[in-house]
Amino acid sequence: MSDQAAVLHVKGRVLVGPDDIRDELWIVGGRITYERPQGARDIRTVNGWALPGLVDAHCHVGLGPSGPVADDIAEKQALTDREAGTLLIRDAGSPSDTRWIDDRADLPKIIRAGRHIARTRRYIRGFAHEIEPDDLVAYVAQEARRGDGWVKLVGDWLNRETGDLGACWPRAEVEAAITEAHRLGARVTAHCFAEDSLRDLVEAGIDCIEHATGLTEDTIPLFAERGVAIVPTLVNIATFPQLAAGGEAKFPRWSAHMRRLHERRYDTVRAAYDAGVPVFVGTDAGGTLAHGLVAGEVAELVTAGIPPVEALSATAWGARAWLGRPGLDEGAPADLVVYEGDPRADVRVLAAPRRVVLNGKVVG
Ligand SMILES: [Zn+2]
Repeated sequence: MSDQAAVLHVKGRVLVGPDDIRDELWIVGGRITYERPQGARDIRTVNGWALPGLVDAHCHVGLGPSGPVADDIAEKQALTDREAGTLLIRDAGSPSDTRWIDDRADLPKIIRAGRHIARTRRYIRGFAHEIEPDDLVAYVAQEARRGDGWVKLVGDWLNRETGDLGACWPRAEVEAAITEAHRLGARVTAHCFAEDSLRDLVEAGIDCIEHATGLTEDTIPLFAERGVAIVPTLVNIATFPQLAAGGEAKFPRWSAHMRRLHERRYDTVRAAYDAGVPVFVGTDAGGTLAHGLVAGEVAELVTAGIPPVEALSATAWGARAWLGRPGLDEGAPADLVVYEGDPRADVRVLAAPRRVVLNGKVVG
């Protein structure tokens, strides 16, 4: 016997879009309908403010502090995200094969970017394919085929020779690699903290930049003009002062640079948003950061000066459209989160979902 009602009735305020609000929806056979089902006997009702399942557009499942983790740990990571209301993850690079999650209707949906592609000894050990520029096109093609429509590069990292952040890829190779990814139907994103890699990557046709702390008044218009998105991961950027302190003795220039990027992080995000750069919510969970921080990241975007309804869209309606996944549409898989209050009025309600519904089942 299933403990799940045959029909779920969500009542209250259904936020189909920021300005498209309905009073109720039904879930039949795991899918959303706005037509009251006829003759249903076993109906369970959930009351509150419903949003489409939240998107964490920068999250790593199957990754721990020193690289790949066992499947049971990856499962816990995914369940922690689910509890927080994250039902769609763009995995921004994982050395683990997490395909088995696709067969689990009780775990969040994942859009993978394959494994990170980094320059030799220019990233956290155990995370990435570490290669040289001559091999970039081949590795990007390989990860484009392995992933779900995204490829992840590490665009800049500490350069031990200069003692500062520095770009990892020459323009010609990165342009050829992005062209190849696009030919294979994949979009490309890159980890970038610093200023100096951004122009080349955008001019080479990149689709998105992760962190993007190095945006300046020179590069922001370029991003806006080309519609290149950013995922600021402010809950991760908050750790820059600790990283800087840890690296101070050996790499003082790098340390000072990280502190400067941290100090202006809110101004950077606000300036990008004001210029029309698409901004999305990503927590950078996995690796060193905990899972389940999506509400905190939305709150950080609001702190940076993004209007609450736009910060919500960056994890809900807008993020789903950007990733090509449905929201609360007729016939769509019923992935939604129900809250006690209006999240447009105060995004802090996201921190405590009343009910989480995934593939039509109440899972939290
Ligand atoms: Zn990451």
